[in-house]
Amino acid sequence: MRYYSTRNKNEPVNFAVAALTGLAPDGGLYIPQEFPQFSKSVKSSLGKMTYTEIAFETIKPWVIDDIPAGVLEDIVNSAYPFGAPLIEACGRRVLELFHGPTAAFKDFGARFMARAFSYLRRGETRPLTILTATSGDTGGAVADGFFGTEGISVTVLYPKGRISELQEKQIAGLGGNISALAVEGSFDDCQRLVKQAFGDSELKKRLVLASANSINVARLIPQTVYYTAASGRVLSGHIDPDGEATPRLGRGALRGDIPAEGGSGGFAVQSRSGGGDFPPVRFCVPSGNFGNLTAGLYAYKMGAPIGHFIAAANANRTVPDYLESGKYEARPSIATISNAMDVGAPSNFERMAAHFSLDEMRNLITGVSVTDDETRETIREVFDKGYCLDPHTAVGWRAVRKLEHSQSGSAAENTAGAVIVSTAHPAKFREALGPLGAQVPVPPSLQKVMERKIVTVTIRAELDALKSALL
Ligand SMILES: *Cc1c(COP(=O)(O)O)cnc(C)c1O
Repeated sequence: MRYYSTRNKNEPVNFAVAALTGLAPDGGLYIPQEFPQFSKSVKSSLGKMTYTEIAFETIKPWVIDDIPAGVLEDIVNSAYPFGAPLIEACGRRVLELFHGPTAAFKDFGARFMARAFSYLRRGETRPLTILTATSGDTGGAVADGFFGTEGISVTVLYPKGRISELQEKQIAGLGGNISALAVEGSFDDCQRLVKQAFGDSELKKRLVLASANSINVARLIPQTVYYTAASGRVLSGHIDPDGEATPRLGRGALRGDIPAEGGSGGFAVQSRSGGGDFPPVRFCVPSGNFGNLTAGLYAYKMGAPIGHFIAAANANRTVPDYLESGKYEARPSIATISNAMDVGAPSNFERMAAHFSLDEMRNLITGVSVTDDETRETIREVFDKGYCLDPHTAVGWRAVRKLEHSQSGSAAENTAGAVIVSTAHPAKFREALGPLGAQVPVPPSLQKVMERKIVTVTIRAELDALKSALL
């Protein structure tokens, strides 16, 4: 598999180069030259395969030139001792992506990436410095994934005062090969600084730099796996039991006790539409930088039985506005209670635009923006029914409900039975949930994190400040 820059099709690179450099030299993002296709036999067995089997089959064609099959097998087995349970709550399907060590979906990308980097860098003597900007969860997942990895150090940039205490402890509480920088600015400032650092000739001379943001294709590839796995399970009618893979949330209601919401959420609609061998599955993806949604689009391109996406945004509505007006206007980010989605200039839009025309995007993706008030109301209402949503997943939940209630037939059709992608465990956002009366027990892995001490350095949102911190 070859990869090229979104800005230049003439200089393809292999997976190792795309992964270890992150951003192409011309400032573009690496995209695949073509999409590998699932075989018919894999597609029809998705419902029966384990998560790691699907991970192996899905990731293999993307990396096989640089990572041999046996090594890849070890990587996926050690990266994913937890899975991605598909559960039912209040008459909706929820894909819970928060069962990894940092309780957000970012673990899926970061844990693969750490192991892949470690293999790709075998025998290298110069240390690798990973620079990553975070709106909250990436930093924790990358820090956890790479903690203790020999020959690799990680510097995480996060917007000072705009992430939760737990998130800060996940990033700035590890020490060792992980350093934390609190940037006086927004996530967009952090992201800009990382991009500037990659373009800086002095830094390039003195350090071997890599990125672990979703500008890095090595993070997106493993994220295609859960879309593929979940779409297979939806079609085979498989629902994971609550309580086994899923900690009991909310008031400990059993799955069967959770009453259905109003609206058409019912799954029966699923089988009515679609047709062909594989009726399409729909996903609603709470989005900020649009890495997660792009990974879903990649699974779709590979032939996973997916028919439609709902891009759920908070007040940072750059992409929903683009889908409506046809004009892409990046803007400064707005702070919301779903802070990991506070992105006004989503980097992965460049990938989406490289793969799809505006019309194609409009057919495949419905954009919805949700306010903080709507998010809070949704958390309260769904909690009363027995399931606890974190603020990001609540944006997705509300987006689905808004579309169900909208007048347009195609919007309702594209929403029916949608799988809501749950991006974080609610216990990560107790500051936001507490005032709403939504409480959940903190899982033991997160309790341990709360005992850590924060060690961080505050910097101005300027390249010079970042450079002196790094050198
Ligand atoms: C990162 C994150 C998002 C946004 O994902 P993108 O890939 O940036 O669109 C949503 N929810 C949570 C909890 C996150 O950590």
